[in-house]
Amino acid sequence: MEKLIITVALTGNVPTKKMNPNLPVTPKEIAADVAACANAGACLFHVHARDQEQKPTLGLSAYKRIVAAVKQAAPEVIIQLSTGARAGTDAEARANPVRLLPEMASFTTGSNNLPGIVYANSPQFLEYLATVFRDTSVKPEIEVFEAGMINNACFLRDKGLIDDPMHFDFVLGAPGAMPAGVRSLVFLSESIPAGSTWTVAGIGKAEIPMAAAAIVMGGHVRVGLEDNLRMPDGAPASNVRLVEKVVAIAREVGREIAAPDEARQILSLDPDCKDRVLAEI
Ligand code: ZN
Repeated sequence: MEKLIITVALTGNVPTKKMNPNLPVTPKEIAADVAACANAGACLFHVHARDQEQKPTLGLSAYKRIVAAVKQAAPEVIIQLSTGARAGTDAEARANPVRLLPEMASFTTGSNNLPGIVYANSPQFLEYLATVFRDTSVKPEIEVFEAGMINNACFLRDKGLIDDPMHFDFVLGAPGAMPAGVRSLVFLSESIPAGSTWTVAGIGKAEIPMAAAAIVMGGHVRVGLEDNLRMPDGAPASNVRLVEKVVAIAREVGREIAAPDEARQILSLDPDCKDRVLAEI
């Protein structure tokens, strides 16, 4: 089995420090958390930005500050910026994180309900965002909340806008979208094109059980406070403790953990993109 890539979704758009005081929000806090999680075994970091009032933002300066701090604290890790819509729905703004030239960025290839909102990603927007990914050679992580999003990704691939091998993240258990369970995971992992890689992000209480399932199925794992605020025993989680939990489960079943360069190889990241300086930093 391939070594296990552990992704950390550090902050997200929804959690607040009131909900969990361990949530990293400022560039300094995020960078320190990345370094600690990397030390514990994580190598890929899914990053959202907050403004001075800790509200979600797609502002380039906020992203730049975070990326600069992370690069200083943990230069080897893979950075994946979010193009999610809770921080703003303007198409151009949502594409901005990709234009900063991180090694990866997230890309939800369809629409679904989430708590309080329709997570709208129209066909026109998907084509637009896929074009930005193609033009910048940034590798998308295809976020799959519903099975049809796999088909949408394949449609974009067939139009020449996404390259094989694709990398998928199955987001399971978000209220309004596909339920968390081994049955979902088996169905989705068998529905992606041969040669693709996949990870799972279980939401809330599903986070660690879905991680355990992916570890034995040969997939990869995303954990973090964006998706879940508590440890399995109900205690407040931290990103580091969640990574430590995943590493412990992997060790118990004999799955080795991928270092950043091993993850780059598994994900077929373009070596030329590793050291690209993020635009204007
Ligand atoms: Zn996210």
